[in-house]
Amino acid sequence: MSSAKTLNLLATAHTYEVQGKKVKVMKPKMDTRFGAGNVKSRAGLNREADVLLTEDSTFPAKSLEGVHCVVVDEAQFLHPTVIERLREVATTLQIPVICYGLRTDFRSRLFPGSKRLMELADTIEEVKTTCSFCNRKAIFNLKSVDGKETMEGPTVCLGGEEMYVPSCYQHFCERIALATGRPVNFQTAWAEGDAADAAQQIAKRKLSQSSPSDKLAGRDVQKKARGADESPPLQFEQEPDMEVSPQKA
Ligand SMILES: [Zn+2]
Repeated sequence: MSSAKTLNLLATAHTYEVQGKKVKVMKPKMDTRFGAGNVKSRAGLNREADVLLTEDSTFPAKSLEGVHCVVVDEAQFLHPTVIERLREVATTLQIPVICYGLRTDFRSRLFPGSKRLMELADTIEEVKTTCSFCNRKAIFNLKSVDGKETMEGPTVCLGGEEMYVPSCYQHFCERIALATGRPVNFQTAWAEGDAADAAQQIAKRKLSQSSPSDKLAGRDVQKKARGADESPPLQFEQEPDMEVSPQKA
């Protein structure tokens, strides 16, 4: 399983930095796979994210003063509103924003953040990945739990033992059919997924009622001063693959 996108992200950041330019690395706060703020590729490279984003994150000019480029990891998990705010950063502050993320979840549906990104990005580049079972291009993320392929569960699983592998359409359908004993039915899987997501939301709300709110991520963005550059594309690099992750979908 290779995840080229985080590697690409780190390489992009590095390219700016060797030129003496300042890069802000951002990622959703929820992605805790490698520790809350760590942006880590499977090739071993990693760095701390400068900013952890929540649904409430904003990007005032001051917070990005002197920044030449914003790179965002795991952009599929961002709220669509945050994507819109990043679009504003690229346009109004003239700072290029490069987002890396997955296109679809393990039920083959666009993540809401990825959907908004595709709608608003100036450029979309695909990071191609090969199917785990053949040599075709992977367009799906096949989820398995305890070695059994499934389309069940909430879209974003936090802290579980799920595993995700890139897969072509044919192998996705074959593996799911083999594991579940019935052919893939996307509509049914989506309906069940929506129900699982709703249940997860209710559980989360209950939890947050009993503990102090946990949403300061992104606040530290608000501490710097304005800065801009020339070309400001909002870019989106995505790949259909997935990897072992406690909460990806
Ligand atoms: Zn295949």
